[in-house]
Amino acid sequence: MKFLKSFILVTFSFFCMITPAFASVPGVDGSMGKGFTNGIVSVSHPLAAEAGIEILKQGGNAVDAAAAIQLSLNVVEPMMSGIGGGGFIMIYNKKENKITMIENREMAPQNVTPELFLDEKGKPIPFSKRHTSGKAVAVPGTLMGVETSLEKYGTLKLSQVIDPAIKQAEEGVKVNWATAQYIDENVTKLKNNQAAAKVFVPDGKPLEEGDTLVQPDLAKTFKLIKKQGSDVFYQGEIGEALTKEIQKREGTMTTEDLENYEVKEREPIKSEYRGFEVVGAASPSSGSLTVLQILELMEGYDVQKMGANSPEYLHHLTEAMHLAFADRAAYMADEDFYDVPTEGLLDEDYIKERRKLINPNRSTADVKAGDPWKYEGKEPTAMKMVKEEKTPIGQTTHFSVMDKWGNMVAYTTTIEQVFGSGIMVPDYGFMLNNEMTDFDATPGGVNQVEPGKRPRSSMSPTFVLKDGNPFMAIGSPGGATIIASVSETIMNVLDHKMLIQDAIYAPRIYSAGYPTVRWEPGIEQNTRLELMAKGHVYEEKPQHIGNVQAVIYDYDKGKMYGGADNTREGTVQGVYDVSHKSKKPKEIKEEKKGPFTLKVNGAVYPYTADQMKLIDEKPYIQSDKLLLGLGVIQTGDLETFKPDKKSYLPVLGVAKSLGYKTKWNEKDKEALLEKDPADIEDPDEDGSVTN
Ligand code: GLU
Repeated sequence: MKFLKSFILVTFSFFCMITPAFASVPGVDGSMGKGFTNGIVSVSHPLAAEAGIEILKQGGNAVDAAAAIQLSLNVVEPMMSGIGGGGFIMIYNKKENKITMIENREMAPQNVTPELFLDEKGKPIPFSKRHTSGKAVAVPGTLMGVETSLEKYGTLKLSQVIDPAIKQAEEGVKVNWATAQYIDENVTKLKNNQAAAKVFVPDGKPLEEGDTLVQPDLAKTFKLIKKQGSDVFYQGEIGEALTKEIQKREGTMTTEDLENYEVKEREPIKSEYRGFEVVGAASPSSGSLTVLQILELMEGYDVQKMGANSPEYLHHLTEAMHLAFADRAAYMADEDFYDVPTEGLLDEDYIKERRKLINPNRSTADVKAGDPWKYEGKEPTAMKMVKEEKTPIGQTTHFSVMDKWGNMVAYTTTIEQVFGSGIMVPDYGFMLNNEMTDFDATPGGVNQVEPGKRPRSSMSPTFVLKDGNPFMAIGSPGGATIIASVSETIMNVLDHKMLIQDAIYAPRIYSAGYPTVRWEPGIEQNTRLELMAKGHVYEEKPQHIGNVQAVIYDYDKGKMYGGADNTREGTVQGVYDVSHKSKKPKEIKEEKKGPFTLKVNGAVYPYTADQMKLIDEKPYIQSDKLLLGLGVIQTGDLETFKPDKKSYLPVLGVAKSLGYKTKWNEKDKEALLEKDPADIEDPDEDGSVTN
């Protein structure tokens, strides 16, 4: 270690010479006032939150409010969820101290084969094309899910909780900035469908913030449902119109498929994290199971000591995600078709075995699924591993509710991509999902397309309980990124001791496999550089990840709090108290380009323009930043060993002395460094590199 420091110092001074001078209950947010006691909702849209509050005020319970919120979301956030989609409703019933899940995931029609999304040459049809075809639409489950949850656990009828949504559809609602943005981003898709274009792009002009969104067809549909219940959808005129439209667009769904649709009440999955009970959605979701695996892997480390969003924390988290996502791809799908080794995947010894694969100093390139079946005393499934194709991240909605009796609902609901398949049922005014694209396009794996099967989901509506007391209801949209958003927010509260709102606003990362890491604005540059030196590849630009909505219960004082995300107009509202509405996040600004680019093993390093200099037409980088990026020092070392920030080091010289192959591409102004990751030495036990 001493040798290392002197090596750096000598090297550094040498280069400097030639360089020109230059609360007790976690998460409780006291700032929300004294806390609510009569019920609380956290929803991505204020008008849907109002619909839920209206029902709670009428004396409805959390399940009634959740039903009203879902129906209202179909009106006010029609691009994200609705009766043309499906979801997972997690219910905590206080009186019976029971947690259950009303699974209303969409189902594949009967007349499909695993080759559904292959072209004549046997190649997957590109996502952009397949997701807007009638073949992409799976049999919707939302309406039956809502109705079933009310019948089993609600106190009001569908015909009562649907009223706020009817009013909103009929009278119209103001388009908020989030909806306007999503319409704007999807104009082409919407214009390709006459019915949808009429509603969202009237006369060829996309609705803008402040415009009124009136949906008479949807109001008519909801009135039919108010009168006839879900039968009018699954066995009546709505179903007929829906299948007719799908069949016009290459789909095969029939009215029989709708008649055969079933909602399933399933046992949620459970585990413990830091003495809290975490309970989440079971198969066909992979979401909560993967969240639980990540948490269990992280439980082996002192996450609190590592610090929120510190390089050490993010490194271990990323590695834990890679391990969990590898298992997800191999073993998680609709368990009515293939057994899921849930117990094995969460087995303490299995987790220990998997945790051993995490190298504290380097990102592991070759991460494979483990063998959880061994821990259940069974043989692994014979299905082959299908490499997951990268498809665009969908968006959907999560909301959380708690009522004055202490019942909770965590509900994640979707039509898959924004505006789903882009197909609106003519005269009935709702969008159809493209959930079939959540199946693998390539046949052979556990998640291949099969008749009557539910596509694997990532939705992770989750409860956290403490000693049997309800504590938190949480979830997020965002396809596979949901898993990252939910795990990180839970750790932010339980380990990093953040208030729930701060825990939601804290920047997140997502990485389902080596080496790419998606990140939100706020993950510091020094942190990214240190992590890139460990082999992670941070994407060049940040982007927002997920949209978390959570409620928290202070079980000591009987008060309710919540947090809502700002990537939409997230709203926390209590029955009689003030509400909190999140503000639009700042726009992500483009970084000014530097005079050259530094690539290490092909990955562009995140240096800012003012940290780079061309001196005599050769690349130089600010000393501390270069040493961080090349793994010579770590961010922690910056406090003791202070490279002079004003001095610049020659990139090629420093890299060469560290064993990199170097190349300067004069024409494109690119400094290219290469080193086999296997040759990058592990730091010694005190965490510094031993060169
Ligand atoms: N279709 C996604 C899933 O079930 C949800 C949509 C989204 O948020 O991406 O995982």
